[in-house]
Amino acid sequence: MDRFSPYKVLHNLDSVKRSIEDPATPPLHVQLDLSENCNHNCIFCFFREDAFNTGMRRKNIAKGVGRRSLKTDKLLTTISELGKLGTMAITLVGGGEPMMHPHAERVLKAIITAGIAYGLITNGSIRMNPIMLESLKAATWIRVSLDAATETTYARMHQPKNPKKDNFQRTITNLKRLREQCPDTDIGVSFLIHPYNYKEIAHCAALCKGIGLNYIQYKPVYTEERGEDVIPFLPEIKSQIVRAQGLETHDFQVIALLARLDDISKPARDYQYCRIHLLNTQIGVDGKVYPCCVLKYVEEYSFGSIYEQSFEEIWSGDQRRMVIERINPSTCPPCWYDRTNEVLEYLASPHDRHETFV
Ligand code: SF4
Repeated sequence: MDRFSPYKVLHNLDSVKRSIEDPATPPLHVQLDLSENCNHNCIFCFFREDAFNTGMRRKNIAKGVGRRSLKTDKLLTTISELGKLGTMAITLVGGGEPMMHPHAERVLKAIITAGIAYGLITNGSIRMNPIMLESLKAATWIRVSLDAATETTYARMHQPKNPKKDNFQRTITNLKRLREQCPDTDIGVSFLIHPYNYKEIAHCAALCKGIGLNYIQYKPVYTEERGEDVIPFLPEIKSQIVRAQGLETHDFQVIALLARLDDISKPARDYQYCRIHLLNTQIGVDGKVYPCCVLKYVEEYSFGSIYEQSFEEIWSGDQRRMVIERINPSTCPPCWYDRTNEVLEYLASPHDRHETFV
């Protein structure tokens, strides 16, 4: 199964139907922003105000300079609650670098204890201690944002705050360690295509394959130009991707999500209601629960705060109901859930007697 398929929801039909029928059904998947602190200052970071202005006021995040982390006690209680409610998956994602949470090891252990599968999106630059590595072995997947195949391009793309010259090399060393220590985890690299790095697309694939990673994923960077800044380089980008695809084997996949260029530059929304937020929700580093990553940190879309209520109270509360009623895909910023939302709209529509005539 394609890790990034918009049709993955079809493997969870019972949960999907329950959530459509009763929006108070707990979410299948929760994405957690553990910390807004980060040791990098990536030029493409979605949370930097100058990287992409969605037209929404994301005033609840400190845009690349903050130091907040989700408070550990509340976080651990919420993870345990999610496990009891039936949430099946947690992704530890951005705001900043999740591994910069002061108690990242405890968070990983709590997720494992709650019986929830988890994935991690990280810049891979933090040296992982043995306790952390032990918990990372249980991760279903780990994706490292690499975005370069050389030290120079890495420095331009990631702008590490530590000016040492070997930042890229250290991330590669960490990737090799992860590969050795977590043999059963699906480990891959993401490569956001940008005018600075497109010439290293194929080189990066060779590097990842050499480390023994499971895949490399390419997608256009989500900047204010909505991908248009890479359009002049598309012929070279496509030829680089073809070279990368030449390295594919059964164990190493090359995944090019170039259709996302259309999703972010000219969204075609053939559905009336967004429903993905019923299944997949976000908890920000401010403790607030939001419908999706694009609307995260926009106060008007907050469902409520885990510092004030339990997750269950937020999920079945009036504030969430009112926010959901306000969500209007035709006025939302571009997002990559259009295909999934089309499927969900189809599943939510009344069936007629033709459904078995496949
Ligand atoms: S349509 Fe996209 S941006 Fe709008 S709420 Fe849904 S997922 Fe978020």
